[in-house]
Amino acid sequence: MKIYDVSMTIEETMMVYKNKPEKKPMISFASTFETGTVYESLLTMNLHTGTHMDFPKHIIKGGMTSRALDLERLITKVIVLDMTDLDKAITAKDLEDHDINKDDFVLFKTKNSFSEVFDFDFVYVRQDAAQRLAEIGVKGIGVDALGIERDQEGYPTHKICFESDIIIIEGLRLKSVPEGTYQMFALPLKIKETEALPLSVILTDHA
Ligand SMILES: [Zn+2]
Repeated sequence: MKIYDVSMTIEETMMVYKNKPEKKPMISFASTFETGTVYESLLTMNLHTGTHMDFPKHIIKGGMTSRALDLERLITKVIVLDMTDLDKAITAKDLEDHDINKDDFVLFKTKNSFSEVFDFDFVYVRQDAAQRLAEIGVKGIGVDALGIERDQEGYPTHKICFESDIIIIEGLRLKSVPEGTYQMFALPLKIKETEALPLSVILTDHA
């Protein structure tokens, strides 16, 4: 069985959205052998840093939180689609070349997976593509950018997904994963009532 770890490594130098300093994780010492008898680290991190899932509250005031978490929807078969030929965005037209069906969980592999620095022109899921995916009835969308969209006023891609109960996973690393079908294990930290959850995401070819 081949195992692909498609999560981002959490480290202080990691790529964060728009290179914002406040989005960088901070790892400090709660206790060291100089200050105490044990060694303990303290991690301070925005929940949208690194690989994570979004909940409606991220965009919609009063929206659902991590209380809606359903592990059965995160441990599932997924399809990785190769979109590495695209430069700016995934559009509804781009989806036509791919076989996407109702109840699929799709992961889009794009040029984003090949960059270790934040690209302000990252490939995103344009509103019309989100609309098409909602019409098809996909269960989830995973992207290899730190945002499923950019520069779209009112965050329509997020809204379409949330209204259609489509799971959003952001910050995947798919460089070494060939197009195909996989078993996904997306395991979140169990945090109560938040608008996002950090994920560790593993794909296996044992689908
Ligand atoms: Zn997010």
